[in-house]
Formats: sequence, structure tokens, C-alpha cells
Amino acid sequence: MAKDLSKIAKQKKIKYFLISFVDLFGVLRSKLVPAEAIKEMQKNGAGFAGFATWLDMSPADTDMFAIPDPESLIQLPWKKEIGWLASDLWMNGKPVEASPRVMLKNQIKKLSKDNMVIKSGVECEFFLINPEGTAIADSRDTQSKPCYDQSALMRQYDLIKEICDSMLKMGWGPYQNDHEDANGQFEMNWNYTDSLNTADRHVFFKFMVKTIAEKNNLRATFMPKPFENLTGNGCHAHISLWRNDKNLFLDKGDKLGLTRLAYNFLGGVLNSAEALSAFFNPTINSYRRIDAPTTMSGATWSPSKISYTGNNRTHMIRVPDSGRFELRLMDGSANPYLLQAGIIAAGIDGMKKKRDPGQPLFVNMYTDGDNYPNIKKLPSDLEEALENLSNNEVLLSAFGEKNITSYLKLKEKEIKYFNNKDKFSKKDPITVWEKLNTLDC
Ligand SMILES: [Mg+2]
Repeated sequence: MAKDLSKIAKQKKIKYFLISFVDLFGVLRSKLVPAEAIKEMQKNGAGFAGFATWLDMSPADTDMFAIPDPESLIQLPWKKEIGWLASDLWMNGKPVEASPRVMLKNQIKKLSKDNMVIKSGVECEFFLINPEGTAIADSRDTQSKPCYDQSALMRQYDLIKEICDSMLKMGWGPYQNDHEDANGQFEMNWNYTDSLNTADRHVFFKFMVKTIAEKNNLRATFMPKPFENLTGNGCHAHISLWRNDKNLFLDKGDKLGLTRLAYNFLGGVLNSAEALSAFFNPTINSYRRIDAPTTMSGATWSPSKISYTGNNRTHMIRVPDSGRFELRLMDGSANPYLLQAGIIAAGIDGMKKKRDPGQPLFVNMYTDGDNYPNIKKLPSDLEEALENLSNNEVLLSAFGEKNITSYLKLKEKEIKYFNNKDKFSKKDPITVWEKLNTLDC
């Protein structure tokens, strides 16, 4: 029996609900609904015109309905009278298959048939910048190696504390906050959990960080590369596969601590990496972060090639510890649902086909990567990533050709629009279009 939101509203003194969904471009959209109307909305959903969002729909289509998932309810820590809800999109009595949360749930369902669950944690890096988006917020944050800078971290203590306190209250299990490798850049970590929960929290985290930054007269950006000379915003994920209480990736006898199943899963991710890039690095700006020139701190911390290793951050996949791996391809503009869905789809393929990832490579890829010309490179721009997605049988069959076509159609339109106004080159400065369209991703 699903939780009764109307009753919960009375118990928790919730006056309004935000019935939210994320479209294919990762934009968070909502209706603000008074508690008096939530009973009806919980049953039938809040109505939206699909064409008005980044979903492949026409203005002539009937209404789509966002039906809230009561399990996702979060009382806004900074305004308790509002309850936030993630929802699934429905149209004509059926789920909207080409919508991100539904796409993720469909992949989760496939794993659940074998009683398996992906657990994952995400590391969402962000910058604190001025409201105009022209510079980092803290003009004294100028060290050439600013990572873990205590003074720069503590100058933002009030803001970081408010976000971390919120995560503590919500029960996310936050455990560390730091200044990252770029001036003005931060990261806050909370516990891993099942992939749907992590995706919902990822969506809420971005909303929360942006909102609390605004309250402090600042702006937070998850843009993959807001400043050419600084390290970009990654969104690494740590992945393990579970059946009940057993981690199916853990083999303490193996040199990296992984089971054969984990290697096969990883083999699937390596095999589809170029296509996955269309989901994981979905903006034009994303490709300034991948295979980027060295930054002021001395390293980009982002991958250039499709390789894996042990505890070494210069590869696309790092195995930092036994029983899990870290995928470092994703950036701050990745859609939280497609991020998880893409990993699961590629991993299922790897396990099914018993894909062999080959031997791990224990070299510094930044200095020695060129000595391995047979290792495939990541796409160099969004167009190339989309091209790879359109030819990738694994993802086409996992998500359905029609749904992938919808995604490609919208993204190709975006590129066309950009190309009419500007030209993308990693050698040129970040364009005004990128800033206008990606700063608030
Ligand atoms: Mg980081």
C-alpha cells in the first residue's frame, strides 16, 4: 500500500508539494501543488504539456501526467512546509518510455529479475561563482594547487554547513566535504545506496546546492568546464552489484578485489563507452573536460581514453578498493537518471556476453597514454558521441530504438542551433552560448 501523501501532509505540516520530473536534457521541472489537492494528484498525476519540455513530443499531443513517487518525498530542509517529490511520466494510461526516470526503472527491473540491485554513489563537483557567472565567488581562492585548501573551504563554511546539515537531517549519511582541484570548486560526499534512490538524491542535491548558494548571494554551477584553465566538474560514480546482502563484485582473492562477474560488467562499460558518452557527457561544453589540455593545477582528473586500472585516477575506470569500481567519465551536466541507466544497461550486456575487459593497465595515462595507440579514445565532441550512440546495438536494444532516436533527435537539433550561432573548438575560449545554456545545468 503506497504512502498516503494527504495524511503525511497533515502529520508533517506540509502545505505545498513540488511534483517534479527531469526531462531528457536533465532539466528539473515541477508544479507546486497545495496539500489540499495532493490526494487527487497522487492518484492521477499533475498535468504537463510534454512539448514544452525536452521530451520528444508534439504540441498536438495529449497531456502527460507526472505521478509522484511517495517514497521519494523530501521536506525542503530550508522550507519544511514544502514537500519535494520525484515522479514518473504517464501518457494515455502508459508510462512515457522515453523519459529518464522510466528509462532507469526499466533497467533496474531487468536486474531485479535475477534478484540483483546496483548500488551506487555519485560525486557531484560544483563551483561557487558570482551571480553573473563571470568569475569564481572567492577572489582570494588563487592557489595554483588549491585542492583541499582549508582556508578557501572554511571561507564558505556557512554555506557548506547548511548543505551538509540538510543531508544529515534527510538521513543521507554525508561523511566529508572538501575544496576540490579547481579554484572555487567543491565536493560533498554522502553514502551510496540503490541506484534509483541515488538518482533522486542526485537531482535533489543539485537543486539544493543551487538554492542554498542563491540564498547566500552566490551561484553554484555543475557546468562541465566553466573555466578553460581550471579542472572541470566531474560526476564520478562508484558501482557495486548486490544480491540481498552479498556484494557480487567482491572477491578478496583477486588482485583488484573483483569477481569475474565484475570484470564482465566492467567489460560491458568499456565496450559501450563511446556511446555512453552521449548520456554521460551530454552537452557541447562536456568535451572541453574530456581529453583536455593540462589545467593550472597540473592535471585535468578527467579521462582521455577507454581504459581501466587499479587505484590510479588517470584512467576512465579506477578500482580504488575491492568490491567496486569508479567510473570517471561522467560530468556535472549528466542526467542523473540516464547516468545510472547507462551504466546498468552496459553492465548487463557485459555480464550476458561475458565481455572480457582485458588486463588492467598500471601506467600514468596522462604522460604515457600515447604509448598505447590501440586503446580507443573517447569522442572529441558531442556530435561524435551521438554518432556512436546511434550505432551502438547494446544501448539501442537496452532502451529501445524509438527512445534512443528521440534523444538523438533533440540533441541533434541542439547542435544545429549551436552551429548556426557559433563554432566549437577546444582551442577557442568557451562560447557565450555554452555559458548561457550550461551554467545552470
Ligand atoms: Mg572529485
